[in-house]
Amino acid sequence: MSNIKNNIEEIQKDIKDYSIYPEKVKFIAVTKYVDAEVMNSILDCGVKVFGENKAQVIKEKYEKYLSEGRKDIEWHFIGNLQKNKVKYIAPFVKLIHSVNKLSLAQEIDKRALQNNRVIDVLLEINIAGEESKEGYELEELYKELPQLLELKNINIIGLMTMAPFVDDETLVRGVFRRLREIKDELNKKTFNGKLTELSMGMTNDYKIALEEGATIIRVGRKIYQ
Ligand SMILES: *Cc1c(COP(=O)(O)O)cnc(C)c1O
Repeated sequence: MSNIKNNIEEIQKDIKDYSIYPEKVKFIAVTKYVDAEVMNSILDCGVKVFGENKAQVIKEKYEKYLSEGRKDIEWHFIGNLQKNKVKYIAPFVKLIHSVNKLSLAQEIDKRALQNNRVIDVLLEINIAGEESKEGYELEELYKELPQLLELKNINIIGLMTMAPFVDDETLVRGVFRRLREIKDELNKKTFNGKLTELSMGMTNDYKIALEEGATIIRVGRKIYQ
């Protein structure tokens, strides 16, 4: 418990020290590694924003807390999302970070409508061109953009990326900087300033991401060290 508290306080201090606009930054506690007991410790520290990467698991955890009367928790979906799993999260998810193809966006739109919702989403971009990573290639995104913009029950509010797992800080920084440039470019060309969020930075690289303008960091392992 005390470790968790100290680690969370350290992350919160890092946001103040490294971010170019700390008041805009949201810290998502990635809880995919832990059970409810540990999640309760995080809630006790005042952090009420959880990120998960499996649709059935996030649904179970959401329902467990709901049954205890907790409606104040934000649930973020951060992982690769299969179309046939969208239905599990559509009723409650706060933000889907990982829209990487039109067919997925269409399914989210459909399920959002069924739930009388407009669901906020981020477009995941594969900046480094890594084959192992999910996410749009830029060219593909531009091709699908007109159809993405027709979907009335999703609200695209920003971009997400994952940097390669390397020690090369310059490379990682370049990836985050590029994501910010792409956001600016899309805002100018298409979105008219509507893209406000940059979800980037994990345990290994969130300080760099904060320096490069992250508005959302997704941190897991560091909390549990
Ligand atoms: C697991 C995960 C994280 C958190 O990574 P840590 O290294 O544990 O901080 C962030 N984003 C995504 C998409 C993840 O799957």
